[in-house]
Amino acid sequence: MTGTVYLVGAGPGAPDLLTLRAARVLGQADIVFHDALVHEETLALAARAQKVLVGKRCGLYSTAQRFINKRLVDAARSYKVVVRLKGGDPMLFGRAHEELACLLANRIPFEIVPGVTAALAASADLGLSLTRRGIARSVVFATPRAAEDAAPSGWASAVAAADTAVLYMAVRDSEQVMQELLRRGLSPRKPVAIVENASSRERKLWAGTLAELPELAARCGSGPALVVIGEVLAAAREGLLPGLAEPATPQAARRR
Ligand code: SAH
Repeated sequence: MTGTVYLVGAGPGAPDLLTLRAARVLGQADIVFHDALVHEETLALAARAQKVLVGKRCGLYSTAQRFINKRLVDAARSYKVVVRLKGGDPMLFGRAHEELACLLANRIPFEIVPGVTAALAASADLGLSLTRRGIARSVVFATPRAAEDAAPSGWASAVAAADTAVLYMAVRDSEQVMQELLRRGLSPRKPVAIVENASSRERKLWAGTLAELPELAARCGSGPALVVIGEVLAAAREGLLPGLAEPATPQAARRR
């Protein structure tokens, strides 16, 4: 027998930011391979499934990608409904292609269930439209992180060219991110914000300027965090961001 592998988006953190389709598939699952950040209430929806943690959290514990691919193929040969549950949307910055390529090569049927990506949860937490009319007509989702054997990434030029940018996996390298963007000609006064644990009760928001990015990043805890860059954040300077309850940097607070 061959089962179907479902690549399912778990959403950004809050367990009720899950699609109805994802909830239904989880309810039918025989086995679920999940990331470290998936909420326990979301996992509980897979009531009768065996649950297998397969990483990945900042290199702390993570299963080699090749091994995950193989486990999905093996599981599809023993179970009817196999779920690969990934944070946010499964197709964004989640190595989905490697898993799908392996499933295709082994003729395992698959389906993809999209999820709410972290950038959209951050936009909601900030109370800020990433495409505010008159200010932003383009949004880029990018990451400075690249595989070691990958071709050089154009992330910085894409960010420089966009009206609004959301950077995934960028907080730990905030110093290099800032330097690279300044080299691309972005102003040190360009508004930035960091959103940690978007959509969850533990969420935290900080706003400031590009020059202050490393300082803002140093305030982050161990939760997942995004960097938002763009003039749409200038509203933070005016104290207009309803979501921005946290005090910004001392400099930014004085500006306000
Ligand atoms: N597929 C996921 C992204 C995986 S990459 C999605 O669509 O959201 C992992 C990165 O996503 C983290 O390093 C962080 O930059 C970001 N991220 C994930 N969840 C987040 C959250 N709740 N708040 C802020 N950033 C988050």
